[in-house]
Amino acid sequence: MTDLTGKTAIITGAASGIGAAAARLFADSGATVIGVDMNHEGLAELSGKLGERFVYEAGDVTDRALLERLAERAKNELGGLDMVLLNAGIDGPMAPILEIAPVDFDQVLGVNVRAVFEGIQVFGAAMKDRGGSVVITSSVNGLRAFENTSPYTTSKMAVIGLARAAANDLAKYDIRVNTVHPGLIDTPMLQRAEEGLAPGHQAELRSTLSQTVAMKRVGEPEDIARAMLFLASDEASYVTGQSLVVDGGFTSLLSM
Ligand code: NAP
Repeated sequence: MTDLTGKTAIITGAASGIGAAAARLFADSGATVIGVDMNHEGLAELSGKLGERFVYEAGDVTDRALLERLAERAKNELGGLDMVLLNAGIDGPMAPILEIAPVDFDQVLGVNVRAVFEGIQVFGAAMKDRGGSVVITSSVNGLRAFENTSPYTTSKMAVIGLARAAANDLAKYDIRVNTVHPGLIDTPMLQRAEEGLAPGHQAELRSTLSQTVAMKRVGEPEDIARAMLFLASDEASYVTGQSLVVDGGFTSLLSM
Protein backbone atom coordinates (compact mmCIF):
# COMPACT_ATOMS: atom_id res chain seq x y z
CA MET A 1 0.00 0.00 0.00
CA THR A 2 1.24 3.52 -0.85
CA ASP A 3 2.42 5.27 2.31
CA LEU A 4 1.61 8.98 2.51
CA THR A 5 2.59 9.41 6.16
CA GLY A 6 3.73 12.96 6.85
CA LYS A 7 2.33 14.30 3.55
CA THR A 8 -0.36 16.93 3.09
CA ALA A 9 -2.91 16.92 0.26
CA ILE A 10 -5.42 19.57 -0.81
CA ILE A 11 -8.49 18.07 -2.49
CA THR A 12 -11.15 20.22 -4.16
CA GLY A 13 -14.68 18.87 -4.47
CA ALA A 14 -13.89 16.70 -1.44
CA ALA A 15 -17.44 16.51 -0.05
CA SER A 16 -18.92 14.19 -2.65
CA GLY A 17 -18.31 11.44 -5.19
CA ILE A 18 -14.77 11.08 -6.52
CA GLY A 19 -13.28 13.79 -4.28
CA ALA A 20 -14.71 12.20 -1.13
CA ALA A 21 -13.39 8.76 -2.15
CA ALA A 22 -9.96 10.30 -2.73
CA ALA A 23 -10.08 12.08 0.65
CA ARG A 24 -10.84 8.74 2.36
CA LEU A 25 -8.10 6.88 0.49
CA PHE A 26 -5.43 9.56 0.98
CA ALA A 27 -6.27 9.84 4.69
CA ASP A 28 -6.27 6.03 5.08
CA SER A 29 -2.84 6.04 3.38
CA GLY A 30 -1.49 8.36 6.10
CA ALA A 31 -1.84 11.84 4.58
CA THR A 32 -3.48 14.82 6.18
CA VAL A 33 -6.11 16.07 3.77
CA ILE A 34 -7.40 19.62 3.43
CA GLY A 35 -10.79 19.35 1.78
CA VAL A 36 -12.62 22.19 0.08
CA ASP A 37 -16.11 22.15 -1.38
CA MET A 38 -19.28 24.23 -1.62
CA ASN A 39 -21.10 21.45 0.22
CA HIS A 40 -20.45 22.24 3.88
CA GLU A 41 -22.60 19.40 5.16
CA GLY A 42 -20.71 16.78 3.12
CA LEU A 43 -17.38 18.10 4.39
CA ALA A 44 -18.57 17.99 8.02
CA GLU A 45 -19.80 14.42 7.56
CA LEU A 46 -16.46 13.33 6.13
CA SER A 47 -14.64 15.07 8.94
CA GLY A 48 -16.72 13.06 11.42
CA LYS A 49 -15.47 9.85 9.77
CA LEU A 50 -11.81 10.77 9.15
CA GLY A 51 -11.08 12.71 12.35
CA GLU A 52 -7.82 14.64 12.60
CA ARG A 53 -6.57 13.44 9.21
CA PHE A 54 -9.18 15.68 7.55
CA VAL A 55 -9.48 19.43 7.90
CA TYR A 56 -11.70 21.48 5.65
CA GLU A 57 -13.00 24.82 4.46
CA ALA A 58 -16.34 25.29 2.76
CA GLY A 59 -16.20 27.65 -0.20
CA ASP A 60 -16.06 28.18 -3.92
CA VAL A 61 -12.89 27.19 -5.81
CA THR A 62 -13.35 30.19 -8.10
CA ASP A 63 -12.48 32.37 -5.08
CA ARG A 64 -8.71 32.87 -5.30
CA ALA A 65 -8.55 34.21 -1.75
CA LEU A 66 -9.89 30.86 -0.53
CA LEU A 67 -7.20 28.97 -2.48
CA GLU A 68 -4.55 31.25 -0.96
CA ARG A 69 -5.93 30.63 2.54
CA LEU A 70 -5.73 26.86 1.98
CA ALA A 71 -2.11 27.11 0.84
CA GLU A 72 -1.31 29.18 3.95
CA ARG A 73 -3.01 26.61 6.19
CA ALA A 74 -0.99 23.81 4.61
CA LYS A 75 2.21 25.76 5.25
CA ASN A 76 1.49 27.11 8.72
CA GLU A 77 -0.55 24.31 10.30
CA LEU A 78 0.60 21.17 8.49
CA GLY A 79 4.26 21.73 7.61
CA GLY A 80 3.79 22.33 3.87
CA LEU A 81 1.95 21.08 0.83
CA ASP A 82 2.83 17.93 -1.16
CA MET A 83 -0.13 16.92 -3.34
CA VAL A 84 -3.11 18.67 -4.89
CA LEU A 85 -6.19 17.16 -6.53
CA LEU A 86 -7.99 19.82 -8.59
CA ASN A 87 -11.17 17.80 -8.81
CA ALA A 88 -14.17 20.10 -8.19
CA GLY A 89 -16.24 20.35 -11.33
CA ILE A 90 -19.71 20.95 -12.73
CA ASP A 91 -21.36 19.52 -15.80
CA GLY A 92 -23.47 22.55 -16.73
CA PRO A 93 -26.35 22.49 -19.19
CA MET A 94 -26.78 19.39 -21.37
CA ALA A 95 -28.24 20.83 -24.56
CA PRO A 96 -27.38 21.37 -28.23
CA ILE A 97 -24.79 24.10 -28.76
CA LEU A 98 -27.32 26.48 -30.38
CA GLU A 99 -29.29 26.49 -27.10
CA ILE A 100 -26.41 27.13 -24.70
CA ALA A 101 -26.44 30.58 -23.09
CA PRO A 102 -22.96 32.16 -23.14
CA VAL A 103 -23.32 32.88 -19.42
CA ASP A 104 -23.67 29.12 -18.75
CA PHE A 105 -20.65 28.41 -20.92
CA ASP A 106 -18.64 30.95 -18.88
CA GLN A 107 -19.79 29.38 -15.62
CA VAL A 108 -18.64 25.89 -16.60
CA LEU A 109 -15.30 27.19 -17.84
CA GLY A 110 -14.95 29.32 -14.70
CA VAL A 111 -15.13 26.30 -12.38
CA ASN A 112 -13.63 23.59 -14.58
CA VAL A 113 -10.81 25.57 -16.22
CA ARG A 114 -10.09 28.98 -14.74
CA ALA A 115 -10.24 27.75 -11.13
CA VAL A 116 -7.91 24.89 -12.13
CA PHE A 117 -5.51 27.43 -13.68
CA GLU A 118 -5.61 29.51 -10.49
CA GLY A 119 -5.24 26.39 -8.36
CA ILE A 120 -2.08 25.46 -10.27
CA GLN A 121 -0.75 29.00 -9.78
CA VAL A 122 -1.49 29.27 -6.06
CA PHE A 123 -0.61 25.70 -5.04
CA GLY A 124 2.31 25.50 -7.50
CA ALA A 125 3.84 28.54 -5.80
CA ALA A 126 3.28 26.87 -2.41
CA MET A 127 5.13 23.68 -3.54
CA LYS A 128 7.91 25.45 -5.45
CA ASP A 129 10.59 24.97 -2.81
CA ARG A 130 9.91 21.32 -1.97
CA GLY A 131 8.39 19.72 -5.07
CA GLY A 132 5.02 18.05 -5.28
CA SER A 133 2.31 16.90 -7.62
CA VAL A 134 -0.99 18.06 -9.07
CA VAL A 135 -3.71 15.81 -10.46
CA ILE A 136 -6.54 17.42 -12.42
CA THR A 137 -9.83 15.59 -12.92
CA SER A 138 -10.70 15.76 -16.59
CA SER A 139 -13.09 13.19 -18.12
CA VAL A 140 -13.58 10.90 -21.08
CA ASN A 141 -15.17 14.11 -22.43
CA GLY A 142 -11.61 15.43 -22.52
CA LEU A 143 -10.90 12.86 -25.23
CA ARG A 144 -14.23 12.58 -27.07
CA ALA A 145 -17.00 15.06 -27.80
CA PHE A 146 -20.42 13.65 -26.94
CA GLU A 147 -23.70 15.26 -28.08
CA ASN A 148 -25.17 18.11 -26.03
CA THR A 149 -22.08 18.65 -23.89
CA SER A 150 -20.31 21.62 -25.52
CA PRO A 151 -19.39 23.60 -22.35
CA TYR A 152 -18.35 20.49 -20.38
CA THR A 153 -16.42 18.94 -23.28
CA THR A 154 -14.63 22.22 -23.99
CA SER A 155 -13.63 22.50 -20.34
CA LYS A 156 -12.41 18.92 -19.98
CA MET A 157 -10.33 19.16 -23.18
CA ALA A 158 -8.89 22.51 -22.06
CA VAL A 159 -7.44 21.11 -18.84
CA ILE A 160 -5.35 18.60 -20.80
CA GLY A 161 -3.55 21.51 -22.45
CA LEU A 162 -3.33 23.29 -19.13
CA ALA A 163 -1.81 20.25 -17.43
CA ARG A 164 0.77 19.73 -20.16
CA ALA A 165 1.80 23.40 -20.23
CA ALA A 166 2.01 23.46 -16.43
CA ALA A 167 3.99 20.20 -16.41
CA ASN A 168 6.58 21.87 -18.66
CA ASP A 169 6.76 25.07 -16.62
CA LEU A 170 6.83 23.44 -13.18
CA ALA A 171 9.20 20.53 -13.88
CA LYS A 172 12.15 22.64 -12.77
CA TYR A 173 10.59 22.84 -9.31
CA ASP A 174 10.08 19.05 -9.24
CA ILE A 175 6.31 19.53 -9.47
CA ARG A 176 4.49 16.98 -11.64
CA VAL A 177 1.11 17.71 -13.25
CA ASN A 178 -1.17 15.05 -14.76
CA THR A 179 -4.83 14.51 -15.66
CA VAL A 180 -7.09 11.61 -14.78
CA HIS A 181 -10.02 10.81 -17.10
CA PRO A 182 -12.93 9.05 -15.41
CA GLY A 183 -15.54 7.29 -17.51
CA LEU A 184 -19.06 6.76 -16.16
CA ILE A 185 -18.69 6.85 -12.37
CA ASP A 186 -21.48 6.30 -9.85
CA THR A 187 -21.57 9.67 -8.09
CA PRO A 188 -24.27 12.29 -7.47
CA MET A 189 -23.16 14.01 -10.70
CA LEU A 190 -23.94 10.92 -12.81
CA GLN A 191 -27.11 10.23 -10.82
CA ARG A 192 -28.38 13.78 -11.51
CA ALA A 193 -27.59 13.40 -15.22
CA GLU A 194 -29.49 10.08 -15.35
CA GLU A 195 -32.45 11.67 -13.62
CA GLY A 196 -32.47 14.48 -16.20
CA LEU A 197 -32.16 12.11 -19.17
CA ALA A 198 -34.68 9.46 -18.06
CA PRO A 199 -36.89 10.70 -15.22
CA GLY A 200 -38.43 7.72 -13.43
CA HIS A 201 -36.39 5.25 -15.52
CA GLN A 202 -32.92 5.69 -14.09
CA ALA A 203 -32.40 1.97 -13.41
CA GLU A 204 -33.10 1.07 -17.06
CA LEU A 205 -30.78 3.84 -18.24
CA ARG A 206 -28.05 2.64 -15.85
CA SER A 207 -28.33 -0.83 -17.29
CA THR A 208 -28.08 0.52 -20.86
CA LEU A 209 -25.11 2.69 -19.92
CA SER A 210 -23.32 -0.28 -18.34
CA GLN A 211 -23.52 -2.10 -21.67
CA THR A 212 -21.53 0.74 -23.32
CA VAL A 213 -18.56 -0.08 -21.08
CA ALA A 214 -16.21 -2.97 -21.98
CA MET A 215 -16.24 -4.12 -18.33
CA LYS A 216 -20.07 -3.93 -18.32
CA ARG A 217 -20.28 -1.84 -15.20
CA VAL A 218 -20.30 1.79 -14.22
CA GLY A 219 -17.21 2.67 -12.15
CA GLU A 220 -17.06 3.38 -8.43
CA PRO A 221 -15.51 6.61 -7.09
CA GLU A 222 -12.82 4.42 -5.49
CA ASP A 223 -11.71 3.22 -8.95
CA ILE A 224 -10.73 6.82 -9.71
CA ALA A 225 -9.33 7.56 -6.25
CA ARG A 226 -6.79 4.72 -6.63
CA ALA A 227 -5.57 6.17 -9.95
CA MET A 228 -5.31 9.61 -8.33
CA LEU A 229 -3.27 8.13 -5.49
CA PHE A 230 -0.86 6.59 -8.00
CA LEU A 231 -0.43 9.83 -9.97
CA ALA A 232 -0.13 12.02 -6.87
CA SER A 233 2.35 9.79 -5.01
CA ASP A 234 6.02 9.01 -5.54
CA GLU A 235 4.93 5.79 -7.27
CA ALA A 236 4.55 8.06 -10.33
CA SER A 237 7.83 9.91 -9.73
CA TYR A 238 8.71 10.11 -13.46
CA VAL A 239 5.18 10.69 -14.80
CA THR A 240 4.27 14.25 -15.77
CA GLY A 241 2.19 15.93 -18.47
CA GLN A 242 0.24 12.69 -18.97
CA SER A 243 -3.42 11.67 -19.18
CA LEU A 244 -4.56 8.50 -17.41
CA VAL A 245 -7.91 7.14 -18.62
CA VAL A 246 -9.86 5.15 -16.01
CA ASP A 247 -13.07 4.13 -17.73
CA GLY A 248 -13.46 0.33 -17.64
CA GLY A 249 -12.87 0.28 -21.40
CA PHE A 250 -15.61 2.79 -22.30
CA THR A 251 -13.44 4.66 -24.82
CA SER A 252 -11.81 1.49 -26.14
CA LEU A 253 -15.24 0.16 -27.11
CA LEU A 254 -16.06 3.50 -28.76
CA SER A 255 -12.97 3.26 -30.93
CA MET A 256 -14.15 -0.02 -32.50
P1 NAP B 1 -20.06 15.33 -7.49
O1 NAP B 1 -20.46 14.12 -6.76
O2 NAP B 1 -21.08 16.30 -7.98
O3 NAP B 1 -18.94 16.07 -6.65
C1 NAP B 1 -18.41 17.30 -7.05
C2 NAP B 1 -18.27 18.18 -5.82
O4 NAP B 1 -17.65 19.42 -6.24
C3 NAP B 1 -19.63 18.53 -5.19
O5 NAP B 1 -19.59 18.37 -3.79
C4 NAP B 1 -19.81 20.00 -5.57
O6 NAP B 1 -20.54 20.73 -4.62
C5 NAP B 1 -18.36 20.47 -5.61
N1 NAP B 1 -18.23 21.70 -6.37
C6 NAP B 1 -18.80 22.01 -7.56
N2 NAP B 1 -18.46 23.26 -7.92
C7 NAP B 1 -17.67 23.75 -6.93
C8 NAP B 1 -17.03 24.99 -6.71
N3 NAP B 1 -17.15 26.00 -7.59
N4 NAP B 1 -16.30 25.15 -5.59
C9 NAP B 1 -16.20 24.17 -4.68
N5 NAP B 1 -16.79 22.97 -4.83
C10 NAP B 1 -17.52 22.77 -5.94
O7 NAP B 1 -19.28 14.92 -8.85
P2 NAP B 1 -18.15 13.83 -9.17
O8 NAP B 1 -18.73 12.91 -10.15
O9 NAP B 1 -17.48 13.33 -7.94
O10 NAP B 1 -17.16 14.79 -9.96
C11 NAP B 1 -15.83 15.08 -9.56
C12 NAP B 1 -15.04 15.42 -10.82
O11 NAP B 1 -15.03 14.28 -11.67
C13 NAP B 1 -15.62 16.57 -11.64
O12 NAP B 1 -14.57 17.38 -12.11
C14 NAP B 1 -16.31 15.86 -12.78
O13 NAP B 1 -16.40 16.66 -13.93
C15 NAP B 1 -15.39 14.67 -12.99
N6 NAP B 1 -15.97 13.52 -13.69
C16 NAP B 1 -17.03 12.82 -13.17
C17 NAP B 1 -17.54 11.74 -13.87
C18 NAP B 1 -18.69 10.89 -13.39
O14 NAP B 1 -19.21 10.05 -14.14
N7 NAP B 1 -19.14 11.04 -12.17
C19 NAP B 1 -16.96 11.37 -15.10
C20 NAP B 1 -15.90 12.10 -15.59
C21 NAP B 1 -15.40 13.17 -14.87
P3 NAP B 1 -22.13 20.94 -4.85
O15 NAP B 1 -22.72 19.56 -4.90
O16 NAP B 1 -22.55 21.74 -3.68
O17 NAP B 1 -22.24 21.65 -6.16
